[in-house]
Amino acid sequence: MYIIDIQFNIKFALCVLYFSMERSDMVRIAVTGAAGRMGKSIINVIKDTAGAELAGAVERYDHPNIGKDEGEILGCGKLGVKITENFEKVIKKADCVIDFTLPEATMHYLDIALENDVAMVIGTTGFSHQQRERLKEVGSKMKIVAAPNMSVGVNLLLKVVSDIAKVLDSSYDVEIVEAHHRLKKDAPSGTAMRFAEVLAYSLNRNLEKVAVYERHGIIGERKSEEIGIQTIRAGDIVGDHTIIFGGLGERIEITHRAQSRETFARGAVRAAMWLVKQPKGLYDMQDVLGLK
Ligand code: NAD
Repeated sequence: MYIIDIQFNIKFALCVLYFSMERSDMVRIAVTGAAGRMGKSIINVIKDTAGAELAGAVERYDHPNIGKDEGEILGCGKLGVKITENFEKVIKKADCVIDFTLPEATMHYLDIALENDVAMVIGTTGFSHQQRERLKEVGSKMKIVAAPNMSVGVNLLLKVVSDIAKVLDSSYDVEIVEAHHRLKKDAPSGTAMRFAEVLAYSLNRNLEKVAVYERHGIIGERKSEEIGIQTIRAGDIVGDHTIIFGGLGERIEITHRAQSRETFARGAVRAAMWLVKQPKGLYDMQDVLGLK
């Protein structure tokens, strides 16, 4: 009887150890903006990602889906995670937060993530200069990945267009055209602005001085140093970006088209899984994808 008891206790202890090891390997991810277009897509990816676990789903306090099971709004049956406005409670159970909301909401959650020493992947776009400075400041004290576009393709293109710009001389005019769905709130897109920053840097130009966001009326001849950034909003376009290098007698056009939000969602979850293993710092998708 005594021997059986010891054997049982050892088996039980091994079982507890096994499961606690299994769980400590899981990356627990909380999602803010959980009922939004990106939030839902991200939760779908987390659900199918080995080693990732949904730690919580957060929405603004007056969202009609507060209190509902996240699975119900995804249409995949119950997930056992209710949508809540209580970020302070959710963050205690998380290793990382993925945030695709609005700039003000992101800045609020950033402060709480910092207090709780929890990593944060930020996909939200449209930050002001001041908000971007705050991100940089906080970046030395916690783990952050912030990128206006989390797709592999766009991040590869950021590198490619920089290389092209360095080879072509200033007789090639640089224009960026972006198109998004009618519900997008900020313009130009964060991705178009990232392309513009990378191109200005590669061409040794000051973006604030050379960016041209709209043309209308008798505008005169185009100045060679201009970097044009043009915006289209229509229907349900997920996200298109074209970079034009226009020379005399030829032009290069490079286009990226996102066909579904899943590409951004996969990038965001990949970033979260990567970020939790990194030292504190402010990273972007180029770091996550090893493109630097
Ligand atoms: P959306 O409007 O569908 O979703 C945003 C969600 O955030 C909404 O459900 C809204 O209720 C919620 N929200 C607002 N305030 C909140 C708060 N205080 N707390 C919690 N939730 C709050 O928009 P979307 O298309 O999902 O895009 C969200 C953001 O992500 C935008 O800034 C967009 O430009 C950006 N985005 C980035 C990428 C990328 O790859 N980085 C890709 C697509 C979209």
